[in-house]
Amino acid sequence: MSAVSIFNDVIGPVMRGPSSSHCAAALRIGRLARELMDGNIAEVLVEFDRSGSLPTTHESQGSDMGLFGGLLGWDADDERLPESAQALADAGINLRIETVDVGDPHPNTYRLTLRNAHEQHTLVAISTGGGMMEVLSMDDVPMPMDGGCHETLIWLPKAVSAEFEADEVLHHDAGECHILQVKSSAFVATDHLPVIAVKRLSPVLPVPSRKDMRLPFTSCTEMLCHDAGRHTPLWRLAVEYEMARGQFTEREVIDKMIAIVRILRKSITSGIAGTQYEDRVLGYQSGRFNELMQAGTLLDGGALNRIVLYVTALMEVKSSMGVIVAAPTAGACAALPGAVIGMAEAMGKSEEDMAQAMLAAGVIGVFIATRWTFAAEVGGCQAEGGAAASMAAAALVTLAGGTRDQAVAAASMAFQSMLGLICDPIANRVEAPCLGKNVMAASNALSCANMALADFDPLIPLDEVIDAAKNVAARMPREHRCTSLGGLAVTPTSVEIEKRLSSKRCGGCGSC
Ligand code: SF4
Repeated sequence: MSAVSIFNDVIGPVMRGPSSSHCAAALRIGRLARELMDGNIAEVLVEFDRSGSLPTTHESQGSDMGLFGGLLGWDADDERLPESAQALADAGINLRIETVDVGDPHPNTYRLTLRNAHEQHTLVAISTGGGMMEVLSMDDVPMPMDGGCHETLIWLPKAVSAEFEADEVLHHDAGECHILQVKSSAFVATDHLPVIAVKRLSPVLPVPSRKDMRLPFTSCTEMLCHDAGRHTPLWRLAVEYEMARGQFTEREVIDKMIAIVRILRKSITSGIAGTQYEDRVLGYQSGRFNELMQAGTLLDGGALNRIVLYVTALMEVKSSMGVIVAAPTAGACAALPGAVIGMAEAMGKSEEDMAQAMLAAGVIGVFIATRWTFAAEVGGCQAEGGAAASMAAAALVTLAGGTRDQAVAAASMAFQSMLGLICDPIANRVEAPCLGKNVMAASNALSCANMALADFDPLIPLDEVIDAAKNVAARMPREHRCTSLGGLAVTPTSVEIEKRLSSKRCGGCGSC
């Protein structure tokens, strides 16, 4: 699969919905499925394995909303997403969701069967966290794809397919024919070629992949080796990485991040002004916090109070289906930007400074996503909140003008304190304890940033901390990895809240 990009995998997508591993990833899967059917879909069967995370979360955590939007060809931040089920029905697409026992090894596996009057295709894909996805197979043929490239699929008789011998062409045996997978949109069918079918799939990721990519480093250890005694600031190393990954200039990388900072600041302002949404657990709380903060009646937390306000505002925007940035995920979208923007404003810093801090966070996220995952279904909240805390700590050191090594030390210390964190959203909504976990991640980041600036010793290198989190996750029961089957999610009050919300959604007959 493609190398991690800061803008694809770590700080992005710009999206709506409660969970990036549900909404944004499902939307990208839906868009690929739509292209596989040339935009002509009459029926879709969606199957989720019973042992995975999706049978219990697909509706409440936004997989349905994202998948339906993708099948309609929409973007991840489309304002129509909350009404995507009705739009799908209006478009005449008949969709059925079933739970099956097929033993899919990945907890976020989508099995789609798509039909129209002329053809039928199957697509199996997984959501890997933070809005990223991977296609495993099409038409029961293994077909590696992550939405990072133009892909041309060509169905050919077996005897003819041998003519296509090239590095960038993958041959897949599909029974009576061959499917050639060409990582390009340039294929043109000639008259002499007995092509059975051709499908062209566009990239669904903002930063495309390419064959000749040479990355300067992919782990923290490699980065420190690469930079050696130069002690380049972490944000500059992040720029170097993303320039190589996306073929950007330095200015383009910084400007892309400034654009993200502007989106986030707008979302914070709209969150504080007030949000409303029927199907959510928590109401509008940031307004009251702001009033008390302005009046000076909260305990003195210094800039931390502004950070808590901004984290809360962003979480409220997320749960009311407003525009957020998955950084690194939607569930943990608020800790990093809340900490960076809150602290930067308190320090009188510019948007360029905020962007630099976000870039420093981005490269820490690259190390986490490359070695492991941001998916709570795989790693519990360590993978979301833990990653967010680690990234935010490095960002805050960068804002303070700390060194490369201090930023890396802060990232290590912040992640260390988040190991073992489970994912157990109350009432199956990504709101609580998510708000508290985002606040905790931001507070932890602030403490660790100051500890690192005072040259505290993190002891364990960041790469080893990531590996330790991965090992902890391997021993974490399924119930505590975003299935709503354990922890706070199964308390009587949580069950009661979920029942109340479900009953509101279905019209309130009371029988469920
Ligand atoms: S508990 Fe953590 S991992 Fe789970 S949904 Fe909430 S923020 Fe995401």
